[in-house]
Amino acid sequence: MLQVSKVKAITLDLDDTLWPVEPTIARAEQALADWLTRHAPATARLLSDAPVRSQLRKAVLQAHPEVAHDFSALRLAYLSRALAHAGDDTALAQPAFEAFFDERQNVTLFPDSLSALAALAARYPIVAVSNGNANVHRVGLGAYFVGSVSAQSFGVAKPHIDIFHAAARSVQCDPDEVLHVGDDAHLDVLGALNAGMQTAWINRDAKAWEHPQTPHLTATDMGALCAALGLAA
Ligand SMILES: [Mg+2]
Repeated sequence: MLQVSKVKAITLDLDDTLWPVEPTIARAEQALADWLTRHAPATARLLSDAPVRSQLRKAVLQAHPEVAHDFSALRLAYLSRALAHAGDDTALAQPAFEAFFDERQNVTLFPDSLSALAALAARYPIVAVSNGNANVHRVGLGAYFVGSVSAQSFGVAKPHIDIFHAAARSVQCDPDEVLHVGDDAHLDVLGALNAGMQTAWINRDAKAWEHPQTPHLTATDMGALCAALGLAA
């Protein structure tokens, strides 16, 4: 059971909690493909082949295990390798990445997200905790967050307890004073439970819960979370 009176701060997942990530990534991949077609056509042709893409991804992960948690670094290394393979200028990796990254920040919020964020932010400090490379400022939601801890910036990804503890420390809270909110049973709920936080599972798709440890609260969306916290969203 959620103990609302104990909650002093909220840590919040981003992808698939505030917006659906799949259409965002699909648009970003398309923006990258369009950019490459214009500026590095040989690379665009090379990457139109799915088996080649998958081989390149594997090769990059093997060559750079130290950045396995950092999707931006991985994608840059991947683009650099693809450009080299195709005989294009590897200096194009950075601008090609930017074409992807710009569109990666162009998210379409779930309909309940914005009013819920406003209601939560009026009551609690909110810290973004994400394994992905969305940036709350670049997606236009910076005003609702007092900070963010990402796998990319922190160097350790969810579900490791250290990233949750870092987020709690950033708002001068003990873990048990923090409510972590997210859609992923393993990365968000189990990770935050192991870190000693209260947890809210955002279960938009009526999935079954399949673990012995359970979230303190399950909510169908961010609006339902606000209602459970006694906030009008
Ligand atoms: Mg998520």
